[in-house]
Amino acid sequence: MASDALRITVLGSATPYPRPGNACSGFLVEGGGARVWVDAGTGTLAELQRYVALGEVDAVWLSHLHADHSADLLTAYYALLYADLDLPLPLPLLGPPGTADRLAGFLTNGPVRSPVEKAFAVEELYDGHVTRIGGLTLRSRAVEHGGPPAFALRVEDGRGCSLVYSGDCEPCPYLVELARDCDLFLCEADGDGPGHHSAAQAGRSAAGARARRLVLTHVGPGTEPAEALALAAAEYPGEIAHADPGLRFVPGAGRGEWIEAPARPGA
Ligand SMILES: [Zn+2]
Repeated sequence: MASDALRITVLGSATPYPRPGNACSGFLVEGGGARVWVDAGTGTLAELQRYVALGEVDAVWLSHLHADHSADLLTAYYALLYADLDLPLPLPLLGPPGTADRLAGFLTNGPVRSPVEKAFAVEELYDGHVTRIGGLTLRSRAVEHGGPPAFALRVEDGRGCSLVYSGDCEPCPYLVELARDCDLFLCEADGDGPGHHSAAQAGRSAAGARARRLVLTHVGPGTEPAEALALAAAEYPGEIAHADPGLRFVPGAGRGEWIEAPARPGA
């Protein structure tokens, strides 16, 4: 692996609630001198700290505000303000409209607004939002998740490597456009139904985007990961993996070398 290459570590992929050994949706994206906590599902704050200290995170990016993608943000908020961590604050937080207000009542439990902006520099996402975190470029697109504002993310490292994360959404042309020719497409496969991809649909979206590799995450209850992989493989000819917790994917690595299984420190 090239030094500080773009990579993504699975903190959790369970839905709609965490399981023993698998937190809800969350990922650590690293590369180009930057570390970004992507989705803060239940249990991911603890998993994150297997790899980086809270003070080493450069930004948080949230796909949407459903609990299985954002609940640990509440705990992180509490920690940033009161845990005597001596961190540089506020921490950049990129999230859908309403992110700051979601946090605002958490610590005061009343009409008084809690000091969200002390902990987080909140930047609301919009369709086409682009920002740079260290050497990484983060591009967000609005996607359809059946109601709440929801976003997908493309991360590029400036050295030709890219990864795309669907967040939670049903198949849509914006997602395929965002994922066009990416090295790694991390796509949800919750199951049939509005607002989500089935595993077969994840395969079709990956094929439509000509993604180089596909990783399935957020596989819904009632479907085993192996079954989901088989359904996706029927639609997509490239390499496929499941987002097992603790796996690390290196989008720019060669065939057979792009999946790392690091010992989970502290496990
Ligand atoms: Zn979800």
